This record gives sequence, structure tokens and C-alpha cells, in this order.
Amino acid sequence: MSVARVAHLPAPGWACAECGEDYPCQAAREMLAAEPDRRAVAVYLAALFIDAVRELPDRPVTDLYARFFRVVRRDRLTAVRHDPWVPAGGRPR
Ligand SMILES: [Zn+2]
Repeated sequence: MSVARVAHLPAPGWACAECGEDYPCQAAREMLAAEPDRRAVAVYLAALFIDAVRELPDRPVTDLYARFFRVVRRDRLTAVRHDPWVPAGGRPR
């Protein structure tokens, strides 16, 4: 995995350093989703998730889990592209 080509990276506070959205932003999710080494993406996002849980104690862990790990699930990539975090029914799956 070549993380260096990902321009949208997490900044302090877990916003994207490039666009300011919560990281991983839409651009980062699309770049990570296109990465063929799914295990490397999962390890990368797991490390970020652990740091985010420590640094954002006021955010529900379930929200952070959904935020970081939806990128990994290939079967949800279509949904991610159209509706990043919440399905049409309301709550994140
Ligand atoms: Zn971004």
C-alpha cells in the first residue's frame, strides 16, 4: 500500500488535512477503497481507529468504528459512494 499517494490524510483533531472533513473523508475513502491490498488498508485503518478512540473520548466507539471500517468492506463500497455513513433507513449498519 502506498499511503504516500493519499493526499487526504488525518490531521490533529481527526479532520482531513486537505479538505477538513472528518477523516477518512470521501476522497480518502475512495482512494483507500481502490487500494488492492485490502489487508494493508485494514491494518492502516485499525491503527488509526485505535488512535482515534484514545484521542476522541467523547465520540461513541461505535461511531468511530463505522467511520473507519466501512472503507474496508467491499460489499458496502457502493453504498459508501452514494451515502457515506448512514443508509436510507437512518442509523449506520
Ligand atoms: Zn479530505
